[in-house]
Amino acid sequence: MDGSISSGCRRASSVLALAVAICATPAHAAERAKNVILFIGDGMGVSTLTAARIFDGQRRGVDGASNQLSFEAFPDLALVRTYSADSLVTESAASASAILTGRRTLNGALGVSDKIVRDDCASLAAARVPTLAELAKQSGRSTGVVSTAAITDATPASLYAHSPSRHWQIDADLPPGAAAAGCIDIARQMLDGPKALQLDVMLGGGLSAFTSEDGAGRRLDGRDLTADWRKTGGAYVDTGSALAAVPKGTTRLLGLFAPGNMMRETTRKLLEADAPRLVDMTVKAIEILSQDRDGYFLMVEGALIDKAHHQNLAHEALNETVELSQAVAAAMAMTEPADTLIIVTADHSHGLTLNGGSRRTTIPGLLPGTEDDPALALDGKPIPILMYATGPGAPALGETRPDVSSTDLSDPDQRALATVPLGSAAHTGEDIAAYARGPGSARIRGLIDHPTVFQAMREALGLPER
Ligand SMILES: [Zn+2]
Repeated sequence: MDGSISSGCRRASSVLALAVAICATPAHAAERAKNVILFIGDGMGVSTLTAARIFDGQRRGVDGASNQLSFEAFPDLALVRTYSADSLVTESAASASAILTGRRTLNGALGVSDKIVRDDCASLAAARVPTLAELAKQSGRSTGVVSTAAITDATPASLYAHSPSRHWQIDADLPPGAAAAGCIDIARQMLDGPKALQLDVMLGGGLSAFTSEDGAGRRLDGRDLTADWRKTGGAYVDTGSALAAVPKGTTRLLGLFAPGNMMRETTRKLLEADAPRLVDMTVKAIEILSQDRDGYFLMVEGALIDKAHHQNLAHEALNETVELSQAVAAAMAMTEPADTLIIVTADHSHGLTLNGGSRRTTIPGLLPGTEDDPALALDGKPIPILMYATGPGAPALGETRPDVSSTDLSDPDQRALATVPLGSAAHTGEDIAAYARGPGSARIRGLIDHPTVFQAMREALGLPER
């Protein structure tokens, strides 16, 4: 809790009695935001931020070590404890739910309290809790979500869905008992839920959850939810060029740009695919939502940081972090700090490490030794600067680690070395960072918890406590 009175207020209070009354209020309490934009870098731990800032600077030809990502200039900063209700190390559903509902829940559950029983539809009614998007909508604001993942994936789903399992994204995924008990899949919750709570802008991947086999989707109920959306008067696009051409004045927009997760930016660029970048989706969402005079709440997820980390693709995780930084920069340019709270944070960390040496060098790369040769470890092999604790980059069972002296570590498809072999790198449990700018940003200071991020946004929007 931040109940402190600013030093400026203390000075004023000795001069003017009126100032005492004003300044005795906690510094954050009177700060109201018309709009809130929440950016979540999925898996964007502190070491990822450090490496991404160096990577970004070096690529732009400036000093990487002293470089700053866009949001690293924000005035307020906190470390955030991320543990879930049942685990020291959280995952995206539980952590996004803590950020978006203010309640910790079990790993794998979303939009629910810790009263939920995993995979049990019958426990949903008592555990369901409103999300910040639903509360913002009830206050008369517009709401939106942008993600480079499937829009039914755990982080975006935590904004609009309530489910005992993050895996119930489509009717085909529901266990028979759950469907019979009245639980509905996450895609249907997004487009079939109560109209008064429905998001106004939804941009991301995941088309296959919204159409049936006829439409190259995976739905078993034969429905085309995008057609149903259009019937209600909402606009629908599925390419980057169509998104760019969305007419001014559009107030309700659905954009689904990939069957599942969207392509990483490196791949999109290579293939010259007609799909939007994260920054393009962010800009369009803000353009649409900012037409609402009552304000808006928007969540933007850079999802592919996590997806790349899981594959030990360090170059790609850093590049996607820079993509998020550019989306934040666009949001900063389009909004005023006087009326818009922007928070940039992560849901959990990943086990990326920067190994140290005696000289500055480029990343990804090898620790320098002599003028021309890399430093060697006790096994006589060079030492990569970027490494993972776990993941598919580890040597196979019974093998020693490879000598990467002649490997191009800057190749986006090159896996970084990991220590413990896993098919998919494990999340890690250390604190993550949160950055804030705008009304109420002072709540994001010191050591806080994921639910505190929710409270900061709720208070800034003037939404009632439940
Ligand atoms: Zn993950």
